[in-house]
Amino acid sequence: MPNRSISNRLTRRGFIHGAAGAGLTLVAAPALLRRAVAHNWGTACGDPFSLGVASGASRPDGFVLWTRLAPEPLSSDPRTPGGMSGGDVTIGYEIATDSAMRNIVRGGKATAERAYAYSVHLDVTGLRPGRPYWYRFTSGDAASRIGRAATLPARDAALDKLRFGFVSCSNYEHGYFAAYRHLADEHPEFVLYLGDYIYEYVEHNRPVVRRHSDGVESATLPTYRNRYAQYRLDPDLQRLHAEVPALITWDDHEVQNDYAGKYSEYFTDPELFLMRRAAAYRAFYEHMPLRPIVSQPHGPIMRVYDRFGFGGLIEISLIDGRQYRSREACYGPPYKGGAHLETDKSCPERLAASRTMMGFAQEAWLHSGLAHSNAQWNLIAQDVLMAQYRLRQGDDFAFSTDDWDGYPANRTRLLRHIHKTRVANPVVVSGDIHSFLANDLKLDFDDPTSPVVATEFVGTSISSYGPPYRPLARALPDNPHVHFFESRRRGYVCVDLQPAHMQVRMRVVSDARDPNAGISTLRTFAVESGRPGVVAA
Ligand code: FE
Ligand code: CA
Repeated sequence: MPNRSISNRLTRRGFIHGAAGAGLTLVAAPALLRRAVAHNWGTACGDPFSLGVASGASRPDGFVLWTRLAPEPLSSDPRTPGGMSGGDVTIGYEIATDSAMRNIVRGGKATAERAYAYSVHLDVTGLRPGRPYWYRFTSGDAASRIGRAATLPARDAALDKLRFGFVSCSNYEHGYFAAYRHLADEHPEFVLYLGDYIYEYVEHNRPVVRRHSDGVESATLPTYRNRYAQYRLDPDLQRLHAEVPALITWDDHEVQNDYAGKYSEYFTDPELFLMRRAAAYRAFYEHMPLRPIVSQPHGPIMRVYDRFGFGGLIEISLIDGRQYRSREACYGPPYKGGAHLETDKSCPERLAASRTMMGFAQEAWLHSGLAHSNAQWNLIAQDVLMAQYRLRQGDDFAFSTDDWDGYPANRTRLLRHIHKTRVANPVVVSGDIHSFLANDLKLDFDDPTSPVVATEFVGTSISSYGPPYRPLARALPDNPHVHFFESRRRGYVCVDLQPAHMQVRMRVVSDARDPNAGISTLRTFAVESGRPGVVAA
């Protein structure tokens, strides 16, 4: 197949954009372009690699390299995603062992698939374990930025240290992504994205710092595509993806707030909601460095959960906490579609053993992986708060239905399994609630004598507004397994792991409304090998 350059396949609007980038006056420019320039996207226009590059799904012998051709990244015409039209496009790629791309060890052709918005998911194999590689894509005269990828260490490799970050909840309208930039500056080996990578809705009630470009809630394939494209135009996020491999799962806002399986918080007919979910999952696949075949969506079904081992030091189980869920406990109109508070009296259904957060297939997969792991540390990376968090309601306690408190039977099964099979150094990392927490995970949260079996760290949001501090902080005495709670700061978490010691730094930006925000450490915690539970560092 000839290597057709994409330059002759730009749409008319794509050409206008490109011309404007070269200095056309704004007088004749369409509204879309004026918006683009106002938002400082001008230089991206016309570049087929405007959305940058990414690597992920790393293995000891390879990884997935991603890009998406989008000379007009926010095309409003659904027939020309990213300003592209026509069939699949063949582009070139190169992989080198040095950052200057001098020692090229691999190269060839990759396909940008029309069916997936001209995205590329290049599954590279046959590389050497435990080392970085650099790569770029080319098309005609255009070349992408150079990205950095890395193979995982060999299964039996002895690692004495590993740095990684975890992030969640980057609402474009609520702030800038300075936190992503500062995480890139720490040079972690990989970043765990724990969900709410995009927000589907448009903010109408609270102050906004910048706007979702189309002004509509994402609900269709073109509108989800453009949402991801807009986020990927952010220079800090784009840089983090170019420099650091990504291991990615999702939470609710990649589809819709507080959805559970096929159940929408707005009581949409589940068959209709699954059509929306299919569009959302497809756009997620199109923009992430996920494995083709394994993670390719089939209608509303898509495999995201996965496992990654870093030598004998740590094994990471990446969990999908949304696709396979039972619907919210005591689901019902008009107000109980998403997160709501329930007591044991008001909603006995919440406690039912049949309710599942992970789905029984994923649960079996996780239990099996944990039982057979030989790693020194075992990380469960997932979307929502796992520790119990009870809130006084009269002389009773209430629980939120949208996190693991909505699925306590599933939580108990997991923690019992961890305890019974003596999983080595189990640590859970979570997102979703736009707050830092450091928690002991206990077999029975209500029994002070019950053993601590694992440790949980929750990272705050990159930019999304946090929940009100006071009512949640007031509940801390009723939740003694929670060692730390802070909802007023934005940032990420950076973990430095050694065989005997895990150090967890909660990093905060000075102001998420400031694109040039500074960074500092709010608190540092630790976990010691062989002793589950939070330790102050
Ligand atoms: Fe969020
Ligand atoms: Ca969420």
